[in-house]
Amino acid sequence: MRKVANHWLREVLRWTYQKRTVTRADIIASTGLNSASVSHSIRYLLDRGIMLKVGDLESSGGRPREALSLNGEAGYFVAVDLEGQTMRFALTNLIGDIRYRWEEDLEFGRPLPVQKIVDSIGWVLSNLSESQAERVLAVCVNYPGVLDSAGNITAFNIGWRSFPLHKALSDALEYPVFIEHDKLSSVLAEHWLGCANSHDNTLFLIVERGIGLGMFVDGKPVQGSRDRTGEIGHSKVAPDSRVICSCGQQGCLETVASSPSIIRQYQEAIGAEPSDGGVLRAADVFKKARNGDPAAGAVVERAGRAIGFALSHAVSLLNPELIVLGGDLISGEDLFIPLIWDELRKRSLPLLLEGLQIKSSTLGLDIRLKGAASLAFRNAISNRDLLAKLCRPALAGWQSDLLRTDSRSRDEPNPRNQPQNLGK
Ligand SMILES: [Zn+2]
Repeated sequence: MRKVANHWLREVLRWTYQKRTVTRADIIASTGLNSASVSHSIRYLLDRGIMLKVGDLESSGGRPREALSLNGEAGYFVAVDLEGQTMRFALTNLIGDIRYRWEEDLEFGRPLPVQKIVDSIGWVLSNLSESQAERVLAVCVNYPGVLDSAGNITAFNIGWRSFPLHKALSDALEYPVFIEHDKLSSVLAEHWLGCANSHDNTLFLIVERGIGLGMFVDGKPVQGSRDRTGEIGHSKVAPDSRVICSCGQQGCLETVASSPSIIRQYQEAIGAEPSDGGVLRAADVFKKARNGDPAAGAVVERAGRAIGFALSHAVSLLNPELIVLGGDLISGEDLFIPLIWDELRKRSLPLLLEGLQIKSSTLGLDIRLKGAASLAFRNAISNRDLLAKLCRPALAGWQSDLLRTDSRSRDEPNPRNQPQNLGK
């Protein structure tokens, strides 16, 4: 058989991953590869069980077109998301489906020991069969905060100052480790797996403890010189605000529209102490606003208009076709989307709003785990050794093991109770 070039495989894999079900003609049209290269690559991937024929599509005249998909069980990734309040883990298959997941609460600002991450990853890997473990390709971790030029992460919400995450995990794990900024992870998940799938110019606004903006421009994520793009939460939208932001400055969008700020402003408005009434969530404030509570309504209006104001600059600069709202905004989309539109109409050129859509993320809370899995896939097929590992001939019997993961409950015992060390 003719030799198959790695870059053909990468293009065929990438495109099939993104579109989920494709035909040979789709791949030729989308990748720009010639038909012989595509045919050889498809044959190669089918022979190795990486690609599957999933049926025939009707065609107008001529023979039916064969529909092709990736075999999700041809590889696995461990996806990890380190959010400020929660550490989430998942075993995902090759195409980003979560096989099982678990999470642990974190204490805000308290230094997170890397061994805790390693133990949890070790717990999932220790539950795989031998043939499944052989098909684990990589671990991908979303980090919050900022990465410096020496590869160290500073993230105050998990107590890290210049922490060498990649090195620490690579030293402790026997699998390749990728680390990615959580904003990029979210926007990539939405672009590859969510509602931004067919949009090449997308903004993804995530509102949680912080506020970040992921950007896809002309089909590519915008990463900046040091992965520091999208810090829209620190754009100055409230010059009259005296609240000090986590960055040390005043007037930041986060001091008006982050989830804790929404809760704080509501509590201030009604004269409640922060500890009053148990744990209040942003979604509770949105519910009160919907029910006509004037204090909640005013907080939501202020937050929504501040977000719209900040987004109007991004719209003017980047001319997106879609803005996706994520994080806690999903539960308040009915309140926020009209306010954002109102501000955009007041502040942006009408031409830039033609055809623009604003939607909530369809991926929900798992978005960052799915994003980590997407990034793991992208990085794995770009890595010669991992591509070779994925494409090695199928081992006898490996497919018979696959149901084992499917049958496992997602509600496995908490890894804290069953620590397993994955040391080499
Ligand atoms: Zn700030």
